[in-house]
Amino acid sequence: MAIPTPFMVGRVNCYLIEDDPLTLVDTGPNSGKALDCLERELASHGRRIEDLGRIVITHQHLDHMGLLDVLARRSGAEVVALDLLAPVIEDYGAEAERNDELAEALMLRHGITRDVVTALRAVSRSFRGWGGAATVTRRLADGEALEFAGRTLRAIHRPGHSPSDTIFLDEADGTLLAGDHLLAHISSNPLISRQLGGKSGEPGDGRPRALLTYLASLRDTREMEISQVLPGHGDPFGDHASRSRCGATSRSRRPSSPSARCSGTSTCCTSAASWPSKRPVV
Ligand SMILES: [Zn+2]
Repeated sequence: MAIPTPFMVGRVNCYLIEDDPLTLVDTGPNSGKALDCLERELASHGRRIEDLGRIVITHQHLDHMGLLDVLARRSGAEVVALDLLAPVIEDYGAEAERNDELAEALMLRHGITRDVVTALRAVSRSFRGWGGAATVTRRLADGEALEFAGRTLRAIHRPGHSPSDTIFLDEADGTLLAGDHLLAHISSNPLISRQLGGKSGEPGDGRPRALLTYLASLRDTREMEISQVLPGHGDPFGDHASRSRCGATSRSRRPSSPSARCSGTSTCCTSAASWPSKRPVV
């Protein structure tokens, strides 16, 4: 289900897993437009928000978790997230403030003027309403299995795009719910945020190294047996290994121009202009 966002990335994919419990993976941003769209999409599958028994969150970004509190309250669904992600969701406002403090320190250290930094902090604050705090009722350890009546998903921490990126692998058929860890049509950025522990690095352990963390995560994912990737944005795709390699290659070099990236192939560097119309449902 492709849900609208106010962000440059366009729509975000939320996945409905027709199993027991009925499960939604990611929620869309906290907006009336997103909520209306999600309700319509659920209705097209004969479902309502109140039918949800479980909501799973792939990472901490607003387009993936903004509606969580609304949906959890209306449905009473179990809310599942990686153990490292849970406090970020539950302490949303304070965590956003801590990340802004980190960004401010980095910008000042690298020569950005105080007035620009102040303006950017105001912009960041204005975005916070697209997200919100929610209670996580089940915390998964890295590698833990999430059981359904008809399938099992393995939760795996793959930080880099964000410190909390979690992918969910159905080991029986190789389907991977990838969040924004792997995207086909746009380049998923390693964004600098406060480390959360685990593979993202320890909080306070020097400056975050999002790019190096992301490269390590891509290398690990490349080795996995995956038949189909269901990404957080854009169409499902196969051949995850070449996309992992492409992502790693484009980030480990400093190309002279954007078009030099990935040798101009039409994989991870394809223009975002070809936005998908498909609305995948698991
Ligand atoms: Zn996203």
